[in-house]
Amino acid sequence: MSGKSFISISNNQPLILVADDDKTMRLLLREFMEQEGYQVVEVNNGKQCLEAYADKKPDLILIDAIMPEMDGFTCCKELLQIARNNRAIALANYYDNGGSFDSTIISGLWGRTPILMITGLDDPASVDRAFACGASDFVTKPIHWAVLRQRVRRLLEQAQLYKQLEAANQALQKLANVDGLTGVANRRHFDQYLNSQWLSLAQEQAQLSLILCDIDYFKLYNDKYGHPAGDICLQRVAGVLSQSAEKIQGFVARYGGEEFALIMPYTSATGAVRVAASMQAGIRELEIIHTESGVSQYVTLSLGVGTTIPTFESSAHDLIQIADKALYQAKAQGRNRIILKQLQA
Ligand SMILES: [Mg+2]
Repeated sequence: MSGKSFISISNNQPLILVADDDKTMRLLLREFMEQEGYQVVEVNNGKQCLEAYADKKPDLILIDAIMPEMDGFTCCKELLQIARNNRAIALANYYDNGGSFDSTIISGLWGRTPILMITGLDDPASVDRAFACGASDFVTKPIHWAVLRQRVRRLLEQAQLYKQLEAANQALQKLANVDGLTGVANRRHFDQYLNSQWLSLAQEQAQLSLILCDIDYFKLYNDKYGHPAGDICLQRVAGVLSQSAEKIQGFVARYGGEEFALIMPYTSATGAVRVAASMQAGIRELEIIHTESGVSQYVTLSLGVGTTIPTFESSAHDLIQIADKALYQAKAQGRNRIILKQLQA
């Protein structure tokens, strides 16, 4: 058969990993799969199958039950174990991330490559074994090609649906965590992230800093320029804060109306004040005209910085409280300034 040369290889053709020790069988499977419009990678045994799986990330694995070196059952078990490990890592990342998903976490949690096991027709026990090892379905030898076609299609469709579900899930998760106006994290996500950092840094006895900041005379800004202009101002401020946060891998959130927060794990008081100063300078450089401000012709920020080493006896709320006190003091002392307070453990 020479159908192979007429198939154009492109990225949206599903990739099938074929593992079989029988060379003729592999050839037949390849020809058939390529005629179905799939790309094919062939291997001889279970060991090679694991390597190719890691290397090629196939959309489906078609694997013979009986092979030398490593048979299909053992390989299936190993693949199941890999999926379990990925799930454990993804779960750990999920908690590190303050209980929010990203795409790698989601695919780690639920990503499973469908496995179609090829068993002998006269060997019903192998079918049970295949499922027990984590196979998604089976076909028998000699191959009934129409059955193979339908099972491959169905498994690929299921996997596709799964991916769409993951994407939808991710979009929902994002909506639940993000402030709609500014695109930074919302208060809910802020609380989750701060609490998770509190616990892990309490364990490590490492420093945690928090900046709470407020746009000065923002009510007057809204009164003078209108709410649409106020919204744009909030977005631009959030943009500057995000840039500052990115440089130090901090976590920025909209804390309230015109109030923002920046969480900085592993950051000392000195480091946090430096970040606060860069945020203050960044806002000043925006030169957003604010004629009603009592401190400047431009929009400015008041910033309260709190730093501590978390303990299990105290809570993240204590850090919020001192940052809030610092912010209050910054405003009371005339706004457009940074005040630092440290919480002694
Ligand atoms: Mg075999």
